[in-house]
Amino acid sequence: PTIADPTLADPTTAGPTLAEPTSLPIVQHWINGATAVSSSGRVGPVFNPALGEQTKSVALADAAEVDAAVAAAVAAFPAWRDMSITKRQQILFSFRELLNARKGELADILTSEHGKVLTDSAGEITRGLEVVELATGFPHLVKGEYSSNVSTGVDVYSTKAPLGVVGIISPFNFPAMVPMWFFPIAIAAGNTVVLKPSEKDPSAAIWLAELFAEAGLPAGVFNVVHGDKVAVDGLLEHPDVKAISFVGSTPIAQYIYSTAAANGKRVQALGGAKNHMLVLPDADLDLAADAAINAGFGSAGERCMAISVVVAVEPVADALISKITERMSRLTIGDGRRNCDMGPLVTEAHRDKVASYIELAASDGATVVVDGRGVQVDGAVDGAAGGFWLGPTLLDKVSVTSKVYLDEIFGPVLSVVRVASYEDGVALINNSRYGNGTAIFTNDGGAARRFQDEIEVGMVGINVPIPVPVAYYSFGGFKDSLFGSNKAYGIAGFDFYTREKAVTSRWLDPSHGGINLGFPQN
Ligand code: NAD
Repeated sequence: PTIADPTLADPTTAGPTLAEPTSLPIVQHWINGATAVSSSGRVGPVFNPALGEQTKSVALADAAEVDAAVAAAVAAFPAWRDMSITKRQQILFSFRELLNARKGELADILTSEHGKVLTDSAGEITRGLEVVELATGFPHLVKGEYSSNVSTGVDVYSTKAPLGVVGIISPFNFPAMVPMWFFPIAIAAGNTVVLKPSEKDPSAAIWLAELFAEAGLPAGVFNVVHGDKVAVDGLLEHPDVKAISFVGSTPIAQYIYSTAAANGKRVQALGGAKNHMLVLPDADLDLAADAAINAGFGSAGERCMAISVVVAVEPVADALISKITERMSRLTIGDGRRNCDMGPLVTEAHRDKVASYIELAASDGATVVVDGRGVQVDGAVDGAAGGFWLGPTLLDKVSVTSKVYLDEIFGPVLSVVRVASYEDGVALINNSRYGNGTAIFTNDGGAARRFQDEIEVGMVGINVPIPVPVAYYSFGGFKDSLFGSNKAYGIAGFDFYTREKAVTSRWLDPSHGGINLGFPQN
């Protein structure tokens, strides 16, 4: 069978205009410190995936609405740039305090629109909060350098100046954390922001913008416009937008990277992934099986750092598969608001696409060890029958030429590929077009050390399946997982959102040298 791909947006065409069920609330834009009611005439559906029902609509901006958001950000920029470091820092601290106190509200929003279980929503917010906390310490990270007397009476120093208006375009799978990878740092560094969140789960971005306003952020510093390709292109082509930070699938990341660069913008575009976990024969197999379950099925596999391929170095595969299978039988699937392990997928179309890979795997010769199709949830306890369910799925002996291996499936489908040696495992991983995350499971420190040097992947775990760096390191992969040279957050985040100015100064000195047309050589 071929894979129908209704969710992969074609970068050359805009999405359809969707009929709006008039009884549902519409998630609106946030421009210049206030709700901005859209007049574009276009909306998209927002579902509760556990109910399988549309619960809201979201406004889809037209070019004029993007212009209004950018204009607000342009107008707010000079005063924000010039606001003292101390005052900016106080606003960031207030935002941090409010977010920490009220993160439960945000977790409820995330679960109701994305479907992930509440503990996972809370975890996403905590990781975003870490970046807010990093941003509160920004005075240390936007310091310049100073050299006195580079020539007689001449000093040179540098400043890290903000860029102006920056655009952020984020994916559905982390509606709070991914925006928080970027906007706290951009804003701390003195920029103003227009965020275009995923139209699939848009409410978190609005909640964050309102909270930041409550913390004292001046109007226009942080704006949110909802939308699809029309809004994205509005940002990519706008002459007043100086930089673009994007996270999403690889085809769109490529499009963003080339279009933003062609329009003269600084751009970082983080793309998709296919993350491998290499299990050596000496590994602790219980630890490896737990890790495969957590990293394969957490958030229903809709994480860019999810493990989607277990590379088992023989003779370990049979024992490992049996441990993984036993653990899978104990996983509970249901409405994320209840106490279960795994929620639904984000939309029906995405669920159907993910499920279609299971059929493809079988026809390409893989063994379907556990089939998540037709998973039953109990309507009274675990979730509505119409929710976008797909149970955890395990595939063995997956062919590395099958689309099941090559594509990013982005769902609860874990593939096992058996290899004969460590070297074969490393060669397989390095051959992938993606290079986001990877992990090795072993008790051999020498092998782990060799792996960290030999593997061509941006984030490496050693007995850690999801090696998402803490806020003061930076997040980003290699190859088709990151276009551009700057990773997200950490020092790299401050570098991306600032440009260095070098100042050469001389204060009046009676011994100045008079006219000299030669090139200054100090
Ligand atoms: P997506 O690429 O479909 O959408 C991302 C953003 O781009 C959204 O805001 C969307 O509205 C916009 N967009 C979609 N189609 C567009 C088009 N044709 N033109 C312009 N803009 C368009 O991604 P998604 O499905 O929301 O998110 C899942 C993907 O994101 C996965 O591939 C996942 O690996 C990736 N991801 C990567 C990272 C990372 O750090 N590398 C992190 C999270 C998610």
